[in-house]
Amino acid sequence: MIKVKKRKILLLPGDGIGPEVINEVRKVLEWLNKNKSLDFEIDEDLVGGVSYEKHKYPITDEVFYKALESEAVILGAVGGPKWDNLEFAKKPERALLKLRKELKLFANLRPAICFEQLVDASSLKPEIISGLDIMIVRELTGGIYFGEPRGIVPIENGERKGINTHTYTTGEIHRVARVAFELAKKRKNKVTSCEKSNVMEAGQLWKEEVQALRDKEFKKVELKHMLADNCAMQLLKDPKQFDVIVTDNLFGDMLSDEAAMLTGSLGLLPSASLGTKDKNGKMRSMYEPIHGSAPDIAGKGIANPIASILSLSMALRYSLDLDSEANSLELAVQQVLDDELRTKDIMSTGKKQVGTSVMGDAIIAKLK
Ligand code: NAD
Repeated sequence: MIKVKKRKILLLPGDGIGPEVINEVRKVLEWLNKNKSLDFEIDEDLVGGVSYEKHKYPITDEVFYKALESEAVILGAVGGPKWDNLEFAKKPERALLKLRKELKLFANLRPAICFEQLVDASSLKPEIISGLDIMIVRELTGGIYFGEPRGIVPIENGERKGINTHTYTTGEIHRVARVAFELAKKRKNKVTSCEKSNVMEAGQLWKEEVQALRDKEFKKVELKHMLADNCAMQLLKDPKQFDVIVTDNLFGDMLSDEAAMLTGSLGLLPSASLGTKDKNGKMRSMYEPIHGSAPDIAGKGIANPIASILSLSMALRYSLDLDSEANSLELAVQQVLDDELRTKDIMSTGKKQVGTSVMGDAIIAKLK
């Protein structure tokens, strides 16, 4: 068998259940190394509260440079009550923001997939969500969360004024829309772009520029524009009308959480954050489950590792060009659910309850 070039993967387990779920990711990577003749160079380091405990910073420069050097970063989760009262700059979450900002991760991809085996876990009727497969692409480094001017200022009558500014440039819109169109080409070829062009100039620009890019470079992709508030409603009413949704930072924050919840458990949903490609074609990226550090169940060995394992599958697909390995991993997850294995968060009557590492082992057994 031909050996491929060594690819550096950095695991950042973080806090709470992070180390438990990332341990299962490591097991899958080691299995792939051994059995698929892949040559991942797996490194692991501290981030979040555990980094603060050791270094007094949520991420050190050394770890940050390791992230820059890696082809993919896979993160568990950061945070927990122990660090809630730290000053802002030392909080575990600052590590995430630094990684996203400095790696210039401008596109956040969040799939919302309904696993047939778990159709009853949703609060919506089975017929509405059965077969659901949406990809939300959220712009991650611009818009109102970063626009200037911002702040809280005193005003003449003794009151105060809070200011945030919603701005987007053509370039920022095109680069995230391009990600959405490229994804759509590999899916159902349909993009819905969401903004508030009826009340916001930046929304009007968003709509015009997404359309212009489509007309210039992606003529074969079907594009629909939708107001973001209508999209929020349509996600509940008829979510299967969507394939890829592209939207800005603020609307994406909300719509992606809403879409995630259509499908039931937090423990199942992965995410990818992608950056620009450098001159050698190398793209920076970070992959993480959408859930947090779940301090309520940390250390009990009951966390669901599927969201993290599916985050690895996204890394295989989007950063490492290993589509076939990604497909196998996703199929293995499906098969384990078909076998009625469930972690506690997705348990229902008559199924077999297992812990984190048994779930990981079962997924690896299916890969075999
Ligand atoms: P959470 O996602 O950690 O937990 C919410 C609920 O879902 C909990 O009941 C938890 O037990 C359950 N849960 C989450 N993931 C699970 C899994 N894999 N398997 C089984 N059950 C799971 O959200 P929270 O409780 O609001 O936040 C806890 C901490 O995590 C906070 O400090 C928060 O700041 C942090 N957080 C971090 C991230 C991140 O690192 N990206 C994201 C969200 C929250």
